[in-house]
Amino acid sequence: MIRLQGIAVSPGVAIGKASVFNSEGHQITVSVCAPDKALEELERLKEAIRVASQDISESRDSVTATMGKQYGAIFEGHLVMLQDQKLFETMENAILQEHFTAEYAVYKTLHAYAQVFQSIQDPFMAERANDILDLEKRVLRILLQEKRQQQQFTEPIILFARNLTPSETASMNTRFVQAFATELGGPTSHTAIVAEALRIPAVVGLGNFLEQITAGDTVIVDGNSGVLIVHPDEEVLRRYRNIERQRRTLDVRLESLRDLPARTIDGTEIQLLGNIEFPHESQACLDHGAEGIGLYRTEFLYLGGSIPDEEEHFNAYRQVIESMRGRPVTIRTVDLGADKLIEKPYSLRNAKKSDLGYYIEEEKNPCLGLRSIRLSLKRIELFRKQLRAILRAGVYGPVKIMFPLVTTISEWRQARMIVEDVKEDLFERGIPFQRDVDMGIMVEVPAVVLMIDHFAREVDFFSIGTNDLTQYALAVDRTNKDVVYLYNSCDPVILKMLDITIRAAEERNKPVSLCGQMSGNPHNTILLLGLGLRTLSVSPGAIPEVKRVCRRVNIAQCKAVAARALRMEKASEVRNYLWSEHQKLFPELDGEVF
Ligand code: PEP
Ligand code: MG
Repeated sequence: MIRLQGIAVSPGVAIGKASVFNSEGHQITVSVCAPDKALEELERLKEAIRVASQDISESRDSVTATMGKQYGAIFEGHLVMLQDQKLFETMENAILQEHFTAEYAVYKTLHAYAQVFQSIQDPFMAERANDILDLEKRVLRILLQEKRQQQQFTEPIILFARNLTPSETASMNTRFVQAFATELGGPTSHTAIVAEALRIPAVVGLGNFLEQITAGDTVIVDGNSGVLIVHPDEEVLRRYRNIERQRRTLDVRLESLRDLPARTIDGTEIQLLGNIEFPHESQACLDHGAEGIGLYRTEFLYLGGSIPDEEEHFNAYRQVIESMRGRPVTIRTVDLGADKLIEKPYSLRNAKKSDLGYYIEEEKNPCLGLRSIRLSLKRIELFRKQLRAILRAGVYGPVKIMFPLVTTISEWRQARMIVEDVKEDLFERGIPFQRDVDMGIMVEVPAVVLMIDHFAREVDFFSIGTNDLTQYALAVDRTNKDVVYLYNSCDPVILKMLDITIRAAEERNKPVSLCGQMSGNPHNTILLLGLGLRTLSVSPGAIPEVKRVCRRVNIAQCKAVAARALRMEKASEVRNYLWSEHQKLFPELDGEVF
């Protein structure tokens, strides 16, 4: 049994069979063929070995000619290994007796050989393991190239990869992908956010582990505690099955809270809103009792890299607004850039005008670059298109417009002015739109916190984005597992920033909410209410647990907790304190899933 610790980013537990995206991006799943197709598979294997051998011989000859015999010998070694009779027989048996497909036979056999070499603590043997993995990739490339179109999931799997982009995650078929785990990634990366939206348990930032997993292995992904277990023993399996059962019972109990108000014991009403990325999630918001949508991340309309036209924007917004039946919907203008959907190095020269790449150049430091509102203000034609669609969709229900990553008051004023201009344009053309639309900003940049009094005089509302605020205030990349020890939204620095922002908003009577991931963690609810927040926007699945806390506390008690937390020096101190306060609140949860 192997147990690895990573970062929990999307709750839930899944037990199942591993499927691996290897470093080449090939998807490896256990796959068998019909018994009468086994001979065909064997022929495919022979042909792939023949082609691979030919490639290797050519490499050997050209390397020998240019660099000398000792370098050519590396390829000679690969050739000898690939043509080894014993190795071939193992793969042949896997096909003829177990009816594995050619690629799975290659993968399983060579992976097992490599693992044997890796287990010997000797640098020479480790090199041999790398040679075998190299061969595996080479043969698989030939086999999979031939069948790439047919690679689809056909049964439930747990997916493993070095990294997954937000678009890859968003396009996962959730009928089959039960959970995923990756070597890279950080706690509030957009891949993590999408996993939560899809309600797939996920663990990221596990470090190098793919070599230790073979497709078809039994694995457990624990998205609550960030643990990955490979080859669990009976006892561990039993414990996790038990956790799954408990979770289902808990879900049913939480379900009963849906129609109850999020009202504290002293009668303070708390507004719980949903965060969404895709229009269909508005249903999940309603199912969990959300009173509206506090953050609609519209950049997911750009999934795949093409620019949506005005009607695509409009249709998505209208769908969300209508399905919320009169509840408020806050639409955030696109927050493209950094780790969001900018996954390839784009080139302005090659891109078409309908591609995102036409508008965005590769940057050295994208988190500090042309992202978010900065991009909208530079590419005004795209911004106006989105604003027109939002204002038009507002005819179908109440809408608010929110600008992301605002840094200066001039940016805010410019964005507001463009909205006014778009309104005028719609009016002149006689197109119906929502005239009185509230406009607000996300508080995600420390500069805004320091100038918050100025913003508070002008904006209609604030929403605090602690995912980015933490990244920028503590200078930690939110997607980087190696600095995750510094990334904590409960850091006293962030608490002070929340305090300043909330007080300024209260003074000017401006609504303020929090929509970063920290508001979805029920351990933080007492703190956030104590700091003065009365509106929290969280991923829909988190609403019941947050509501459960709201209904169990009174505001005086929350204020005392917040005051004490604000005096602390370290994030770990705050986290432990909040955890113990939560335990006190729910003594009956002792031993429960979280
Ligand atoms: C945030 O930064 O906290 C936020 C809600 O925005 P996003 O996660 O989309 O960057
Ligand atoms: Mg943000």
